[in-house]
Amino acid sequence: RAGEIAEELGVEAYVVGGFVRDLLLARPNLDMDIVIEGDGIAFANRLVQEYGGRVKEHDKFRTAVAILPDGRRIDVATARLEYYEYPAALPTVQLSSIKMDLFRRDFTINALAVRLNPKSFGKLVDFFDAQRDLKDRNIRVLHSLSFVEDPTRIIRAIRFEQRFGFRIGGQTERLIKNAVQMQFFQRLTGSRIFNEFKLLCEEKNASRCIVRLEEFKLLGQLHPGLELNAKKIGLLEKIDEVLDWYRLLFLPEPEPDPWMIYLLGLCSEMNDAEVADLTDRLNFSKRDQREFLSLRESVSTAFNRIGGWISRSGPLSELCLAIETLPAEGLLYLMARSTREEVRKGISLYLTRLRDEGIAITGQDLRRLGLTPGPAYGEILRIVRAARIDGQAEAREEQLALARR
Ligand code: ATP
Repeated sequence: RAGEIAEELGVEAYVVGGFVRDLLLARPNLDMDIVIEGDGIAFANRLVQEYGGRVKEHDKFRTAVAILPDGRRIDVATARLEYYEYPAALPTVQLSSIKMDLFRRDFTINALAVRLNPKSFGKLVDFFDAQRDLKDRNIRVLHSLSFVEDPTRIIRAIRFEQRFGFRIGGQTERLIKNAVQMQFFQRLTGSRIFNEFKLLCEEKNASRCIVRLEEFKLLGQLHPGLELNAKKIGLLEKIDEVLDWYRLLFLPEPEPDPWMIYLLGLCSEMNDAEVADLTDRLNFSKRDQREFLSLRESVSTAFNRIGGWISRSGPLSELCLAIETLPAEGLLYLMARSTREEVRKGISLYLTRLRDEGIAITGQDLRRLGLTPGPAYGEILRIVRAARIDGQAEAREEQLALARR
């Protein structure tokens, strides 16, 4: 129907980018990007007139997002006939608007389009031999100044390479090495690097992406303390595993932020001053920086308490007490970091069950037992809860009896 709407408006419509790439790779993708040769904003408005929903316009870029009633988002951009100015002093080139739009993209595999207008519906538009790259499993830039134009593409190249099991092509790899050597990466703002790092951590095999960052010497450029060694790589791989496991639990609460867990791992051999330097470089706000440093601190305190718990062979409730103030990111990091089976089991039990399991008695019950309200209440309830975790006071009656004692 999008194609018919375009036809009625007298414009050409294309679906472009990741959606087309994933279509050809037979991978699911719900984010649709449409490029209109004509007025993209008018097209987005017509789309929601038909389907319902609403449009968010960005006049400056002539782009819009159509948000359909089912929550699906369709990004609509406007392609105009333009002259492409190379960043260096090279001749300008005039291109047709869709070709121009595609030429500005990062890699050939992301520069495919499919026509939507009825007369040519479904026709693939491939100006840059992207189909061959998809077949050869190759990540290739569209021109040799691509990484000069936008060095974040280096991180994107690694992300797509690892996600699809592709390989960054020879020439593209040389261009990356060149850009790294020329320190183009240094010119990027911290927020842009951090955003790309966050996206990279969302990948299933983020540890391999991080190893690739190191192979291109990017970690060291960001901060010398980030450089990898066998121990850190092992830890990052464990984080992959723990996150995989956690995602499969489909817990109702929001997913933890993977970047926090990987960053804890990457900074595991740095001191606080070095971590503060790094987070400054990544443009963390003072508040986010404090929060990350405090997460590191509580994880390390919990780690030490867990050490004591292991050597005493303490009850499960003691482990729970050591970890109960940690957010999910901290708990998952400790699971990855610990080499002891009983710790991993204990934390997993806590995450999946014990964390949400309350006790059957409340402050009201304590009042009925004749206890004066005060700080003792918290202590009593904590003792009852510990006993419950250790399987010693399952029933309400047993819990009441324990509180009375
Ligand atoms: P993902 O599956 O990770 O969302 P995607 O390809 O859809 O992958 P987006 O970041 O949503 O990635 O970008 C959409 C499209 O915009 C890409 O397919 C690419 O064509 C283009 N693009 C995104 N970032 C850049 C960039 N830094 N430089 C050039 N083109 C880009």
